[in-house]
Amino acid sequence: MKKLEALYSGKAKTMYITDDADFLIAHFRDDISAFNAEKTASLSKKGLVNNHFNAFIMQKLEEAGVATHFESLFSDTETVVKKLDMIPVECVGRNFATGSLCRRLGTEEGIELTPAIFEFFFKDDALGDPMINSSHIHTFGWASDQEVVEMKELSFKVNEILFPLFQKAGMLLVDYKLEFGRYQGKLVLGDEFTPDGCRIWDIKTKEKLDKDRFRNDLGDVVASYEAVAQRLGVELTALS
Ligand code: C5P
Repeated sequence: MKKLEALYSGKAKTMYITDDADFLIAHFRDDISAFNAEKTASLSKKGLVNNHFNAFIMQKLEEAGVATHFESLFSDTETVVKKLDMIPVECVGRNFATGSLCRRLGTEEGIELTPAIFEFFFKDDALGDPMINSSHIHTFGWASDQEVVEMKELSFKVNEILFPLFQKAGMLLVDYKLEFGRYQGKLVLGDEFTPDGCRIWDIKTKEKLDKDRFRNDLGDVVASYEAVAQRLGVELTALS
C-alpha cells in the first residue's frame, strides 16, 4: 500500500489517503492538546506508544466481536484503517465520576457510577464539543435512529470488554470517548482508543495514568502511557 497526500490533520493524528480508496493511513503524531487546543505540546514517543496502544485495543475489540476500522500496523507511528463516513458525534461512557460530569452536575469525584453513564457530544471544536442528546442527532440528521441505538449499545459493549481487561492489569477504566463511522453501510468503531481519549486510574492508589497528567501538569505523561501499555501487555518494540 502506498501512502499519498494528507487528507486531514487533527490535533494528534494526520490521516493520509492511499492508493486504495477504501483505506487511509492514520499517523499518530507526538502532538498532544487539551482544553480545546488551548494547551498544546509535543511529547517525544507519544505517537509510537499511542499507535501500538490503539492497535492492541482495537484488535482486542475485534476479537470480542466489535467491528473497528483497524486493519494493520503500517509503521511504528502509522496504522492502516478503513475509510469511514464519520458520524460527527462523540460517545462517552463513564464508570467513575470525574471531568466534565463533576463540573456539570457537582458530582463528587471518584464515585462509582452504577449503572455506567452514557453521553453524546457534538464533535465541533469551534463550539467546544457541546453535550447533546438523541433528539439533536435525529433532528439534525447526524445519524439514523438505528445508528443512535447501536452507538449506545456498542459503547457499553466496548466497556464490557475493556473494563475487565484494565481491571486484570490493576487499573480502572474511569471513562472513555468513542467515535463511530459507516463502512459499507455498517456501523464501525473509528478514531482511536488511547490514553489521550480515556481516563485510567491505578486501582489501588487512584493515580491518574492518562491525559489528565498533561491537563493537570502532573508530569511523566508518555512514561505513564507506556506503563499502562506495559501492564496491559502491549508490544512497544520498534517495528523499524
Ligand atoms: O471532559 P470529559 O470528562 O467529558 O471527558 C470524558 C472522556 O472523554 C475522557 O476520557 C476524555 O479524555 C474523553 N474526551 C475526548 N475528547 C473530547 C472530549 C472528551 O477524548 N473531545
